[in-house]
Amino acid sequence: MDRIVYLDNNATTRVAPEVRDAMLPFFCDRYGNPSSMHAFGGEVAKDLSAAREEVARFLNADPDEIIFTSCATESDNAAIRGTADYFGRELKVITTAVEHPAVLQPCRRLKAFGHDVVELGVDGLGNLDLDELRRRLEAARPAPTLVSVMYANNETGVLNPMDEIAAICREYGAILHTDAVQVAGKLPVDVKKVPVDMLSMSGHKFHAPKGIGLFYVRRGTKLKPFMLGGHQEQSRRAGTENVPYIVGLAKACELARLGWEEEGRRLARLRDRLQAGILASCPNVRVNGDKSRRLPNTLNVSFEYIEGEAIAYRLSDLGICISTGSACASGSLDPSHVIRAMGVPFTAVHGSVRFSLSRYTTDEDIDYVLEKLPPVVHGLREMSPFGPDRAVDTFK
Ligand code: PLP
Repeated sequence: MDRIVYLDNNATTRVAPEVRDAMLPFFCDRYGNPSSMHAFGGEVAKDLSAAREEVARFLNADPDEIIFTSCATESDNAAIRGTADYFGRELKVITTAVEHPAVLQPCRRLKAFGHDVVELGVDGLGNLDLDELRRRLEAARPAPTLVSVMYANNETGVLNPMDEIAAICREYGAILHTDAVQVAGKLPVDVKKVPVDMLSMSGHKFHAPKGIGLFYVRRGTKLKPFMLGGHQEQSRRAGTENVPYIVGLAKACELARLGWEEEGRRLARLRDRLQAGILASCPNVRVNGDKSRRLPNTLNVSFEYIEGEAIAYRLSDLGICISTGSACASGSLDPSHVIRAMGVPFTAVHGSVRFSLSRYTTDEDIDYVLEKLPPVVHGLREMSPFGPDRAVDTFK
């Protein structure tokens, strides 16, 4: 294909060349085990601790609060299952209906084992009702309670008010975990200003490779280790450390930390240009999610009366990569649980697609999409049996 315009960065990102270069020496030269007694391994232990310091700086955490995992799914499972392991059956869990399956599934597993688990709903813009959170916390008293709320939604980019949520959890003595996968590298996260107890991130969402995750655990948090075995990561996550990937993750954190503000503004400008161009060229389009509280790189839109999958396939033939619903749930034609939880009307639910930008997205990429997308949408609408002036609109 002549040209690839990659706008599926909430699914995964390209590894930054700086990250790759930082990792390379750790495959064939500095390959010692950081736990070894010899100096060769000891040198690698120093590199590991430098990487831990860089990752801690990225979150304004202390280095001993950082645990390296294999991915965010592992971090999410470690937070939820590790807390349940610590407290046993009396633990109550409050989460949201729009979490990623990496949070929803372990919570539902706990429910199947008899835990009291509540999934908070969202309004039409994807926002939580914090009074509802308070009511649920009040009702859960005096049982130990874990709250797991994502920092930003992977499909719509909607940001939750984590500072307010953290303050409410503190007031009620609840433990707060946040899946911060999508915010990583896009907006600063400061665990001192936003005092969550546990936080998950994944390297491949911000230009480190796939296969490395980050798990922040505030000192003193009550948690049993999820992976049992060796004494690595202060016995909180067994398994020989994946040093090349940890070094890569640290480099990605450094790149993001040094460019947050400027990059955030650039991404928002490109995303807003894409949004305005789509709204101007295609009728019957709605933007999903609260436009005033979104990640700067994410745009979720519903093209009414046509299928998001059809749009994505046609754009794919033109070299444009986007997603419908959650990339992790792709392969299924079920409408996205996030879009459904927001109560998006039937005529728009199936036509939802996500564009997600990265530091490598350019103005030319946006121009290309704005040139190719409208004819695709018009062509599909011509063929669609649905439409504002057609019979099937009665489903509304
Ligand atoms: N949480 C969120 C919000 C995500 O978007 C994803 C991936 O899409 C994950 C968790 C899982 O990340 P990983 O595939 O690295 O385990």
